[in-house]
Amino acid sequence: MNAILPGATLGVVGGGQLGRMFAHAAQRMGYLVAVLDPDADSPAGRVSHHHIHTDYADIDGLARLAGLADAITTEFENVPAPSLEHLAVARPVRPAAAAVAIAQDRVREKSHFVGCGVDCAPYAVIESAEQVVLVPPNLLPGILKTARLGYDGKGQQRVNTREELAAAWDRAGQVPCVLEKLLPLDYECSVIVARGQDGQVVHFPPQRNLHRDGILAVTEVHADNVPEAAGRLAVESAVAIAEGLQYVGVLCVEFFVLADGALVVNEMAPRPHNSGHWTLDACDVSQFELQVRTLAGLPLNAPRQHSPALMLNLLGDLWFPDDDAKPVEPRWADVLALPGAHLHLYGKTEARRGRKMGHLTITGSSIETVRGTADFAAALLG
Ligand code: ADP
Ligand code: MG
Repeated sequence: MNAILPGATLGVVGGGQLGRMFAHAAQRMGYLVAVLDPDADSPAGRVSHHHIHTDYADIDGLARLAGLADAITTEFENVPAPSLEHLAVARPVRPAAAAVAIAQDRVREKSHFVGCGVDCAPYAVIESAEQVVLVPPNLLPGILKTARLGYDGKGQQRVNTREELAAAWDRAGQVPCVLEKLLPLDYECSVIVARGQDGQVVHFPPQRNLHRDGILAVTEVHADNVPEAAGRLAVESAVAIAEGLQYVGVLCVEFFVLADGALVVNEMAPRPHNSGHWTLDACDVSQFELQVRTLAGLPLNAPRQHSPALMLNLLGDLWFPDDDAKPVEPRWADVLALPGAHLHLYGKTEARRGRKMGHLTITGSSIETVRGTADFAAALLG
């Protein structure tokens, strides 16, 4: 297929912050953007040329999107795969519904990892009461995760015994789940790759991630971020996982590095990822520009990081310094006065605890400088 050139319209299913940053990247390059999202006030819809607000499975809405857009991508993984299949009849859809469907289901996702020869945490599929009884004892203590629709630690329960497992599976509504062995994590990292329709693959350096309460809090990327051998294996594994899917688009693969140094894959996201937001400010090509390029069939330029970087997620909690008071706007002017501070706010009208409202990337000449500035910023934000 020929490249889709600037001037054309790119479509995105989902109107959250990832769609908004995709729209910014596409518009900078001269594309128009059409967003489908049920929320009339969605972060991406507010900055796009066209905003279709219907449900993701609405046949009429999908037809309108296909009518407007020359190619279509997604920005969150719970888009119904049948909607993507439906769109693909009319227009190129990247990533393909088949790859998104695998990433949406932890059972299929783990089989894919195993099939690609990449180690994941020891696990068992839990789909019946019998499977609860038969769970191998070495998987306990473990984490029970719903196979579908989990994010930011939602849909997960820690269990120590078989009795707790049975109770947790009941609480989960006896939906299909996986039980994963609880592993001793040293740290977590992720790798973002972009793969074109011609099979060309480029990647960003491994990102070191810190989660709080199941939500990404901080990402750091600098030269000694991840030990060389683990970093190389993480990149090779992410590339193998993308190639195994014949993937076209941007894919993020999350890993655990264990206390003994072993690398274990955790999960993947078939889209740009929160842990890659730093690429907007510290690389010559961002994860969102690569999403545009893979979607439009343009050549992929290997990204070059030009500065150490640290990203702080800005959750709605920052708007509530006092417990039950009204929301207060954080001290943006002071934060913006910090050298190397790059503020990104997603245009969400209502701040809520745990809600991703924006992020702050700090760049600087060394990671020590960057961390110093980030400490200042964190103190200012309370
Ligand atoms: P989500 O889809 O909500 O991001 P994850 O499977 O990535 O779910 O789990 C969220 C977090 O929980 C991980 O980032 C990690 O900190 C912790 N976690 C998940 N699985 C394990 C495990 N098997 N052992 C130890 N910690 C885990
Ligand atoms: Mg995760």
